[in-house]
Formats: sequence, structure tokens, C-alpha cells
Amino acid sequence: MASLNALIGLLDDELQPARFADYCPNGLQVEGRSEVRRLMTGVTACEALIDAAIAWQADAILVHHGYFWKGESPVLKGMKRRRLAKLLAHDISLIAYHLPLDAHPQLGNNAQLAAVLGLNRTGALFPHDSRAVGDVGEWPAAMSAQAMQQRLGECLGRPVLHIAGGSAPIRRVAWCTGGAQGFMEQAIEQGVDAYLSGEISEPTVHAARESGVHYFALGHHASERYGVQALGGWCAQRLGIEHCFTDIDNPA
Ligand SMILES: [Zn+2]
Repeated sequence: MASLNALIGLLDDELQPARFADYCPNGLQVEGRSEVRRLMTGVTACEALIDAAIAWQADAILVHHGYFWKGESPVLKGMKRRRLAKLLAHDISLIAYHLPLDAHPQLGNNAQLAAVLGLNRTGALFPHDSRAVGDVGEWPAAMSAQAMQQRLGECLGRPVLHIAGGSAPIRRVAWCTGGAQGFMEQAIEQGVDAYLSGEISEPTVHAARESGVHYFALGHHASERYGVQALGGWCAQRLGIEHCFTDIDNPA
């Protein structure tokens, strides 16, 4: 068992949220009971995750996508009210880390995705901005786009969308988890053979076709399942608390 303060202190020390200009508060978002014995992790603090946390008698939930995003209405009604009502009624804390979790060099979404896929990191997608997220790296051996699409699908357990670029084998790859298809231009500038992110937009298709850089859309959720899982396990080991990752499936 650990105090909630100890858990938040450990996470803040490790993830350094003050280093990032983010779109949401990082760290404790909703305060629950002061002691944490069971920590549930998930990608998004949706109602189904909260229900799973209540059933497991979790004391705190740790997620990548929490609440209170910049620009959203501050009014507590509908979906937002129901989620908060359940958290407060069951005295469960909500802890969320967004960009700091994407960027962490070992426990982060990008580092953990690379580990799951078998990609070796060689540098940053934005080498001159220490607060930016995204990585550049390479496969141990070059492969065709078809082989890469198959490998990605096998590693992630779901089909992956491929927009073809050039016909040469793929070795150098850039990646950024979540909705980072807008960084395609930066990936092209880095001279990689392929770029991976979670989502896809209409212009992404043209950028891939016209630049010759392949684009693979892994799914926003699928690309961000691994960081929070690693972080939860790391907390459990440090603090001697129980940890359970719950995957609320999301095709997007
Ligand atoms: Zn995300």
C-alpha cells in the first residue's frame, strides 16, 4: 500500500510534466481516497474503464487520456457528469499523463511501441525541440511494404492501414503514437522510408503518395496501449501496490 501523495510524487518526478506545454492537466485530475492499494491503468478514462476499476475495487486509475482538455466546455453534464459521478461516488482517484507519457524514453508510448514492434531508435523526430515527441529509427533488416504491414498487424493484433509511398525496401522509419499524422511532413524531411502514427487524415494520403514515404495508420488506441501499461507496472514494483491494465477495445 502507498499513499496517493507518494504515487503522484513518484510519477511527477519520473515524467517531469512541467517540461511540457500540454493540452490538459498532467498528474492528479480527480482526488479519491488517500491510500492506494490497487492501481488500474487504461488508455482512456472512459466509463467502461471506470466500471472495470469499480469492479476490481481499484483505489486509483492511471490513464493516457484523462479529462479537462483545453478548449472543451467546463460544464459537467452528460458523459462527463456520469464519469465524474462514478469516480467520486467510489472515491477513486484519476491520474493522467499525456505528452509526458508519450515522450518518456523508456516507459513512454513511443519507446514501448518501438519495443513491441522491434524497431531500434536512432534519434528524435524533432531533433531540435526537446519538448517534442516522436522518434526516428530503423528495422534490423530492410523489408517490403507488404511485409511491414503484415508485421505491424501481427505485433498489434489488428489490421493496419497502409498508404503506399515508394517501391524500394523499407529500413528507416519514423513514428509518433496517437493522432500525430500531422507530423508526416517532418518525417519526410527526416528522409525516412516510412512513417507510423495512430490515425490518418485525408491529406496524409496525398503526402505519402507524393513524397514516396509510406504511411501506416496503426490505430490511435492500438498505438498507445503500451506506455501506460509499462508505467503502471513500474509504479507497482516501486511502491508494492497491485496493478492491472484493462484494455477497453477501440477500433479508432
Ligand atoms: Zn492519444
